Amino acid sequence: MCPPTHFDVSYAINPWMDVSVPVDRVLAQRQWETLVATLHDAGAEVELIEPDPELPDLVFTANLGIVDGHTFVPARMRHPERRPEADRAAWWFAAHGFDVHSLGEDVVQEGAGDALPFGDALVAGYRTRSSAGAYVDLARIVGGRIVPVELVDERFYHVDLTFSPLDSETALVVPSALDPESVRLVTELVPDLITLTEDEAAAFCANCVTVGRTVVMPACSPRLERELRARGLEPVVVDVSEFLKAGGGPRCLTLALDVHLGVTDAAGLAERFTAHNYHPLPVTVSEASGAWVRDDRGRTYLDALSAYSALNFGHRHPRLIAVAHEQLGRVTLTSRAFHNDQLGPFARDLAALCGKERVLPMNTGAEAVETAIKTARKWGYQVKGVRPDRATIIVCEGNFHGRTTTIVSFSDDPLARDGFGPFTPGFRSVPYGDEAALARALAADDVVAFLVEPVQGEAGVVVPPAGYLRAARRLAAEHGVLLIADEIQSGLGRTGRTFACEHEGVVPDLYVLGKALGGGIVALSAVVGDDDVLGVFGPGAHGSTFGGNPLACAVGRVVLELLATGELQANAARIGARLRDGLDAAQLPGVREIRSAGLWFGLELAPGERAARAICEELLARGVLAKETHDRTVRLSPPLTLTEAEADWLLERLLAVLAGDRSLRLAPTDAVAPLSAASFAA
Ligand code: PLP
Repeated sequence: MCPPTHFDVSYAINPWMDVSVPVDRVLAQRQWETLVATLHDAGAEVELIEPDPELPDLVFTANLGIVDGHTFVPARMRHPERRPEADRAAWWFAAHGFDVHSLGEDVVQEGAGDALPFGDALVAGYRTRSSAGAYVDLARIVGGRIVPVELVDERFYHVDLTFSPLDSETALVVPSALDPESVRLVTELVPDLITLTEDEAAAFCANCVTVGRTVVMPACSPRLERELRARGLEPVVVDVSEFLKAGGGPRCLTLALDVHLGVTDAAGLAERFTAHNYHPLPVTVSEASGAWVRDDRGRTYLDALSAYSALNFGHRHPRLIAVAHEQLGRVTLTSRAFHNDQLGPFARDLAALCGKERVLPMNTGAEAVETAIKTARKWGYQVKGVRPDRATIIVCEGNFHGRTTTIVSFSDDPLARDGFGPFTPGFRSVPYGDEAALARALAADDVVAFLVEPVQGEAGVVVPPAGYLRAARRLAAEHGVLLIADEIQSGLGRTGRTFACEHEGVVPDLYVLGKALGGGIVALSAVVGDDDVLGVFGPGAHGSTFGGNPLACAVGRVVLELLATGELQANAARIGARLRDGLDAAQLPGVREIRSAGLWFGLELAPGERAARAICEELLARGVLAKETHDRTVRLSPPLTLTEAEADWLLERLLAVLAGDRSLRLAPTDAVAPLSAASFAA
């Protein structure tokens, strides 16, 4: 940005400029300072270029050129009055370590004001100011895709008066200022376009700057405000009326330096080259330590999701990292064709933790669930004497056990199931927590197992009624049915005990474990049970190339050591209670129900409250990573290592967002405070 020390309307090069209308420079200075403070509050860092008495329009830094990573392409201004600005900019960028590349002499191009990045494309305006030919040069220099749009309304002579990217999905557009083919291109590019009215366009609403989820605008109609808030965006209006006299709003007054065009941006690459089977929040993590992660822009966040509990010990726990390094230096994979020196000790220690006799190691959670299903079926035929191909497993409504074809066969989530049939038979659902329904189901012939999550995670941290698991244990024993506890998410300390089943003094026939078992480093899962159940397998009946590999087992052994002392479980219980007390005390009207177990929370939002996704996006803007489950529940599962100070920091942000408090605008960078700088050292 450039202070408006010499800002003036001393020539007229666009329809908004009128040399007979004086500029109030004191007011301009005040407005500009407010804009800087607003951007700063939203989380932006502001660099300044020195004003020049000869260059009254230098204040409109958006037009100085185009930034792409460490490359700077200075503008070639159409009007001679502004041409020296680009030279000043080239000098500034060179002095700040950028590589400066020039466009050809025969083109005009007015910088980022006429070229806005959206996804992997650069939406580039031409005709009024920039020439279409400039973009041939530009594509050569920065790579990536140019989406040229023809500007047809003299009043909106730069693309940043007609189009504004807000996030990876959403942008504002003034269709009447573009030719029909350009409207088509923009509509194809942007999944979620908000069309501005003539009045909104004339008020420069498109000339806004987005920092995180904050949209800094010169004006915002009530309609537009509703549209933005519905998407979890927060409009903040700043008065820039003095600058509008020269045809420039907040976007014109800023030049974003953190732009990465083309297909070099990691999130953009993921969007472009991976199947869209996830909908990540707009943050790209590049470093992590303990409960904290840092994104590719250097912003710090508290990770209150912990990879759905796979990071129960936090990111890069020193003991886990040490053993992984050590094992990498020895041997990583043997397959089960041979023995390795880690599997045996790991299996002994895991069996001991579970109070069981045998372990069947796999990799992912879904594989372990598949293993448990196969175990139960084979046990049913071999031991219980169930008729061939009639084995039935009872499952619960609202379950989540993974995403293989067999597992989604007994899911009732249409997103997980639809379009994936034909489904595997042999499963019957009962309502979760309903003891009588379970008793009826288990009494039927050919039932071999009851597969249950002791707490339903994906369903939104649903805790069953007290006594349910105990009843399940008793009923399973009475009917000669295996009780299989899927503790992939609930186990290994999450609920304040090693296993969630422990809260009811229940020991299942089979534990299904995954996620945290691999310490957040490797995929390691297992089914753990006694000889009379896991003994049904003979060589060739089941397996996996990577199952039981020495690297995973070495890490798994240290995971078990970390759990052996009980300290992390106790911390989860204590910190979980602290967070729960804080949430309860706040009596948040926007939260319909708080469900929790140890350090695991499902905050179900009240009707009328914003969507869970929008809440998670607001949390992100305040430095907290959390994720929605379904539309109405925000799920939290921070690392079990969370300290009191970190929990209080998290609670403060949670309460601010859930209370809809927009005054507390804590940018992610504020999160740096509880982090010791050393914790990110490699
Ligand atoms: N079972 C439960 C209870 C889970 O929560 C999950 C994952 O969220 C799974 C199974 C599947 O694990 P994975 O994603 O490792 O296959």
